[in-house]
Amino acid sequence: MKPDDPGKLDRIVADARRAADERAQSYREQALKIYPWICGRCTREFTRANLRELTVHHRDHNHDNNPPDGSNWELLCLYCHDNEHQRQLEEASGGGGKGTSSRGSTYAPFSDLKELLAKRQSSK
Ligand SMILES: [Zn+2]
Ligand SMILES: [Zn+2]
Repeated sequence: MKPDDPGKLDRIVADARRAADERAQSYREQALKIYPWICGRCTREFTRANLRELTVHHRDHNHDNNPPDGSNWELLCLYCHDNEHQRQLEEASGGGGKGTSSRGSTYAPFSDLKELLAKRQSSK
């Protein structure tokens, strides 16, 4: 008899990740249909061969905001996308950031985790 199932949380996490991945896949596909395969920052062009390096950025940083007209999406290469989020973090921390080692409680790590997972998924 098992009073507690240690695999339960793993399954819940796995389910949540799968759901996030599926959602990411679907908005990514939509964004790739709407927009030309070009990074919005460095204007690097993409083909099917390297398309996995082209990612969907959410202009308002809300991954749940996926209007079908694509107005919240921007296609960015992995590098520009990382830069964009780095810049956002620095702005959010007020630019100072002396002494405070915690990255700020307003930052939602899970929303980035989804993106990381989506990247990992697509690079397999
Ligand atoms: Zn770029
Ligand atoms: Zn982004």
